[in-house]
This record gives sequence, C-alpha cells and structure tokens, in this order.
Amino acid sequence: MREKILEILKGSDGYVSGEEISHVLGISRAAVWKHIRNLKNEGYKIESVTNKGYKLGGIPDKLDIDKIHEMLKTKVIGQRIEYVNSTDSTNNECKRLEDKTDGTLVIADAQTAGKGRLGRVWESPHGSGIWMSILLKPDVSLESVSQITLVTGMAVCRAVGIDAMIKWPNDVVIDGKKICGILTEMSAEIERINYVICGIGINVNTPSFPEELQDKATSLFVETAKKHEREKIAADVLNEFEKLYNVFTEKGFSFLADEYRKMCVTLNKDVRVIHRNNELTGKAVDIDDSGNLIVETENGQITVHSGEVSVRGIYGYI
Ligand code: ADP
Repeated sequence: MREKILEILKGSDGYVSGEEISHVLGISRAAVWKHIRNLKNEGYKIESVTNKGYKLGGIPDKLDIDKIHEMLKTKVIGQRIEYVNSTDSTNNECKRLEDKTDGTLVIADAQTAGKGRLGRVWESPHGSGIWMSILLKPDVSLESVSQITLVTGMAVCRAVGIDAMIKWPNDVVIDGKKICGILTEMSAEIERINYVICGIGINVNTPSFPEELQDKATSLFVETAKKHEREKIAADVLNEFEKLYNVFTEKGFSFLADEYRKMCVTLNKDVRVIHRNNELTGKAVDIDDSGNLIVETENGQITVHSGEVSVRGIYGYI
C-alpha cells in the first residue's frame, strides 16, 4: 500500500486529495493519513494542505551501506552492519540484537527517540545525520569503560577535521557549538562486562536546528556551506575509532591522553560542574591519564569523573 501511495504522489504534479487516494486504493482516509505520516517519518517531504490534499516535495536521502563497507579499513569495527531506516534509538536497537558480535554497527537514517545523557533528547532528523552505535566487548576493567566515550570523541574529531574539538567528556564541538554527541551505555555483572554500546550522533547535512538548539548546535553543512557524504564520514569515524580503540584496550587511555588534551576545548576554561543538584565552579586545569577532569576550585583541586556530570562554561554552553 505504501508503494502504491508513493506511486500516486510521484505521478502527480500538483496536490492529490486524501479522498482520491482512498477511492483509488479502496482504503479509508484514516489509513491514507497513517501511511502519509509513516512516509514523512521515513524522510519523504510531503506537504499537506486542507482542502487540497498531499504533494510530494522530496524523496529522502538514504544511507548506502555498501559504500560504507567499501571504505572501511577495519578488522572488527563495522565489519557487520545492521541498517534500519528509522528506529527509536540505535543504542536500543543494538541492545535488542540477538547476535551481539563484537564490533557490530547499527546505523539508522532517523531516530524517533534519540537519547542524550540523563534522559535528555537527541534530535535525529531523517537523512541528515549519522545516527549509529558500535557494539563492543572490551576486555578492560569496569572503571575504564567511561574512557571509551573519550576515545570515541577523539575518533570523531580526527574524522571530521575542520576545527572540531572535544567538550569534555562526551561532545564534539566546532566553534563552541555541538556537532556530535556520544552516549556510552553498558551491560555488566558485578565484575564482568557483557557488552558496551557506544552511540554516536553527528549532525552532517542538517540545514537548521529548532529554536532551542540554535545557539548550541551546528552541523557540517552549516559550518562549511556544502553537503557531505554521510557514508564517508561514518567510515572515517569507524576507521579512526578502531585504531584508537586498539591502543586503548592494549595499552590504556594514558597512551592517548596527550592527544586528547590537545583536542579538548574544556581545558583552561572556567567551568561549572553540575552533578545532580550540586554545582561547583572552578578552572579546568588538566585531564589526568585516566581521562578525569581536574578542576581548581576555591577549596583546592578536585577530580571530576565523567559519569553523571555536565560541564558548562561560566558564561554559556562552553
Ligand atoms: P549536555 O550536553 O547537556 O550535557 P548531552 O550530552 O546528553 O547533554 O546531550 C543532550 C543535549 O544536547 C540535549 O539536551 C540538547 O540540548 C542537545 N541536543 C539535542 N539534539 C542535538 C543535536 N542534534 N545536535 C546538537 N545538540 C543537540
């Protein structure tokens, strides 16, 4: 039915009424409306005007998974790719996989309930970004799992280039605005990690943002005034990630800490550290070899673990 509705819309220059579609296909107008809504969720641009009907404005940009495979230089990461057109969140999709092979990538053209940390929402419109999750089975201690977020930030920074920097611990920013967010989740028993899911959201060709995000979000398109190939960026991130991740699992984060410090925009800034209902201010003076943020406060230095804190600039987001 979906295909038939699309055919009708494609075959018409102007508007087609819901009534006409329901008549031609022998389904109710409510059913037509439902299909139209689903097509919109898939990224089809469909204008709907009362008393006129529906008009197809544009077809969605769909990820080409074969292209990603061709550009991968990895041994494990992304060697298996599970593509979904649209899902609640790629992290959730990854958790639902029955076959949890190490290095599996789940990638979607849209997320309907993309997640930030602490239950926040991650906007993931259709066809404009990279919404993906890497499933990992690292042989590392539980305490070092949070460092995977930092390693991922480094991979995104390397892949994106153009002045991308890391806002400790989990965002990649360009010129003070967020281009990428990272959400690492874990399933573990007392001493044993079952798996880690590393979710990455990158705004690639997003033309503009909802009002509430306008001062803190950006995309590669906004920054460079041109469209970018999402497949190439996704493959570059995975290629860089595998190199960094191998160093991390074999030698430890301390071997990456120097490069991380160079990429970190939070260093030497006055910051507010927010943890649940507590907030403290100070200057971010260092990142230690375990990836913790060292903040100089009125009452001396404190070590901030990346767990559940948010870091803000004193005067704004960074
Ligand atoms: P924070 O940066 O506030 O610590 P997160 O890292 O968990 O929180 O990211 C979630 C926040 O990012 C949301 O509350 C929202 O402000 C912002 N956000 C949501 N979607 C996007 C997006 N596509 N691009 C940039 N920022 C976004």
